[in-house]
Amino acid sequence: MHYGELTQNMETVHTIGWQGITVTVPAHWHLAHARGTVRNGYFRVDDEEHPRIEVRWSHPKRNLDLSVRARRYLTLLRRRARRDGKKIQFSESPRPFTSSSVPKNKEVLCFSWSTDVHAWGTIWKCRDCGRVVAAQVLFHGRDKNFSLVKQVLSSLEDHPQSEEVLWCAHGLSFSLPDQFKVKEWVAKLDSSRAEFQAKRRNRLIIACRDAAQSGSDPATLVRFAKRTLKRRGKRLFETFRTERVLSHDGIAFAEAEPIRRLRRRRGPVRKRPYGVAFYCPERGKQFAIMANDRHREFVGKALTHFACH
Ligand SMILES: [Zn+2]
Ligand SMILES: [Zn+2]
Repeated sequence: MHYGELTQNMETVHTIGWQGITVTVPAHWHLAHARGTVRNGYFRVDDEEHPRIEVRWSHPKRNLDLSVRARRYLTLLRRRARRDGKKIQFSESPRPFTSSSVPKNKEVLCFSWSTDVHAWGTIWKCRDCGRVVAAQVLFHGRDKNFSLVKQVLSSLEDHPQSEEVLWCAHGLSFSLPDQFKVKEWVAKLDSSRAEFQAKRRNRLIIACRDAAQSGSDPATLVRFAKRTLKRRGKRLFETFRTERVLSHDGIAFAEAEPIRRLRRRRGPVRKRPYGVAFYCPERGKQFAIMANDRHREFVGKALTHFACH
């Protein structure tokens, strides 16, 4: 990734990471929509007003011809343009946007089209992981900036560079081992909650919320952790201690199980949560990370590459 080049031209940038795909974009662009799985899916990044980049991915079983796929997409665009009474101009450009030299492990095709929206895009197949990615950068009105297109598309990576997958979206940024799959991610204006699942029902939940007023007060951190876990009850987090987390004030907690139940229990051991919650004054946000207590090492793993500010 030509990170230095990007920062020169885009002032401030940030990286968005979703299902193993990463792309570096101007800081005011944000992930607006995401669906699908690691096998195939779609995400869209918007600025304050308009969609700016769309990324689709899939793992086709059969060997596919990229130009066939591009032509199919063109047909779809033409049909849509006709429906909306617009004219579409399309070019299957041999000029690669991704970089001056096409990477050896990729088969790349570039295209552009324009109606009242201008788009430059690329479809490629990665020979390393077999993923086919289609991405396009969009411009509305006259503010076309070809060097921005080049920079954004050349920052696009279709597979993680290690076994850790970077998740960087909706106000949260962290890496997790690739066995964790996202189960649900609810993003609101002032909060974000992501739930991951790995084999044998290992659950990991990561959340944040705006909390400049409550700050690092342990009682509010406990309340936030409870809400994040979506469980109520007095015994929850009877045992917590204050702890520094990522050099911020926070708590570490474990869910206590009532003695009565311990005596009565015959079935398998219930999976109780273990986790940490802390307050980052730089962002004015509270964060909570929790896992089943038998897999508490994943909380530590999630914290290793956690970026709160
Ligand atoms: Zn790949
Ligand atoms: Zn912080």
